[in-house]
Amino acid sequence: MPSLDIMGDRRSGQDVRTQNVVACQAVSNILKSSLGPLGLDKMMVDDIGDVTITNDGATILKMLEIEHPAAKIMQELAERQDNEVGDGTTSVVILAAELLKKANNLVRNKVHPTSVASGYRLAMREACKYIEEKLAVKVEKLDKSFLVNLAKTSMSSKLLAPNSDYFASLVVDAVQAVKMTNVNGETKYLIKSINILKAHGKSAKDSYLLKGYALNTGRAAQGMPSRVAPARIACLDFNLGRTKMQMGCQVLVTDPRELEKIRQRETDLTRERIKKLLNAGANVILTTKGIDDMSLKYFVEAGAIAVRRVPKENIRHVARATGATLVSTFADMEGEETFDPSVLGHADEVVEEHVADDDVLMIKGTKTNSAVSLVLRGANDFMLDEMERAFHDALCIVKRTLESNMVVAGGGAVETALSVYLESLAMTLGSREQLAVAEFADALLIIPKVLAVNAAKDATELVAKLQAYHHAAQTKTEKQHFSSTGLDLLKGTLRNNLEAGVVEPAMSKVKIIQLATEAAITIIRIDDMIKLDKDES
Ligand code: ADP
Repeated sequence: MPSLDIMGDRRSGQDVRTQNVVACQAVSNILKSSLGPLGLDKMMVDDIGDVTITNDGATILKMLEIEHPAAKIMQELAERQDNEVGDGTTSVVILAAELLKKANNLVRNKVHPTSVASGYRLAMREACKYIEEKLAVKVEKLDKSFLVNLAKTSMSSKLLAPNSDYFASLVVDAVQAVKMTNVNGETKYLIKSINILKAHGKSAKDSYLLKGYALNTGRAAQGMPSRVAPARIACLDFNLGRTKMQMGCQVLVTDPRELEKIRQRETDLTRERIKKLLNAGANVILTTKGIDDMSLKYFVEAGAIAVRRVPKENIRHVARATGATLVSTFADMEGEETFDPSVLGHADEVVEEHVADDDVLMIKGTKTNSAVSLVLRGANDFMLDEMERAFHDALCIVKRTLESNMVVAGGGAVETALSVYLESLAMTLGSREQLAVAEFADALLIIPKVLAVNAAKDATELVAKLQAYHHAAQTKTEKQHFSSTGLDLLKGTLRNNLEAGVVEPAMSKVKIIQLATEAAITIIRIDDMIKLDKDES
């Protein structure tokens, strides 16, 4: 039984709640200054001195060594947002911490945590409904300039911002290049087929888009051709080398000629296997493991390209783009005359090219899905890594928007509109949830407030103006377009952010609100923290 010694091992009631809120607030405070287009960056130095410079919420939290259990929930929250949406990781943590702070105030004022939770859930449902019904704008024509604006909003806080026109257009071209229709007839954008290659040197503006999937490795031997067309690609997940006897297998040999025979047989077996592979028509062989010199010789003789030590993730993407199946063992083909040709992938050509002083293998004209590669150039590793993160976020945002077709205005417009709406909704509720809904409404304003503070503007005044605008808009129903009014952070005024091109996918906002609310509720419902003693368990 774990020890339940009240002294030291267990904290309960308001004590634990306050402690949890303080921890989450600390996490949020770290991220606050990096929110928005004028947010600042963080420099993270790990124990061996490796430096990362970023303002991506998920990356910052991933690198922090967080010990407090409640703060860990915040860390997971950012990770989930990153996995499910790809952007909005900073916002989700800031919002969750604010919701939690307000919830804690309510509990201190003797509102039961369960009432707070049900009020928050109600507010969350209403907020999401309001976004979908009133705030989201269906984009009739998703033309390139619109998508470029979308990518620019996502990049605005990252180090690519000064050249965001150029990069946003690269992102849009890349996403549009990997368009496909799935079996249900839906259009999808396989952004996983976009390989990002990072190459030192030149300036960031020399980054470009390559048609085809680029593998960051060259041929395994110089004797191999540097181009094969059409290509039939085998994706393997095992070693291609001399077959060895199983571990623990003992053969007693008295005659040295016998030993030679065993060796010969091992060699023959390998040759047969490679022959099967080649007979099936494979002329490009990619493996995640090694290929020994003898096997390489066979491939050179057959005029095939072989590449070893391809990262598993890349080989999966190649398999998906070319229609190949990743084969994990040779045993599947034992005893058969040939390797099953249906597992081979197809592409128009595979060619080795020089990209920024490195040999890369380009797979062009992939048959099943198209694939492209983004070659990023930059002065140093920190810059390249941060560029990759910014590209990842922007790619996700463009994909989500193209797939869902609904957008909302950014720059605090949605949060303020929701806050004003929920505030008046709270007044109509004659139940215990009223206070919680009102606090929820108030908490949403943290996003425009932090955006304004980071832009060195008077947050109190700006947010008050914004609230007044939205209040007027919601009471006079015909002024629909007011719902897109958000902050112009450079001038410190209000503007229609939809027209200004500061847009975000509606789904991203809905997810931020849902995930932040769930996290806040999870933490506020904790009223006991018991540390289990290992020795006695
Ligand atoms: P996150 O990691 O949450 O995406 P960001 O640092 O990317 O955080 O900031 C996103 C916030 O910045 C969103 O609320 C978005 O509406 C706002 N934003 C982005 N660009 C602009 C802009 N040009 N003007 C006003 N607000 C902007």
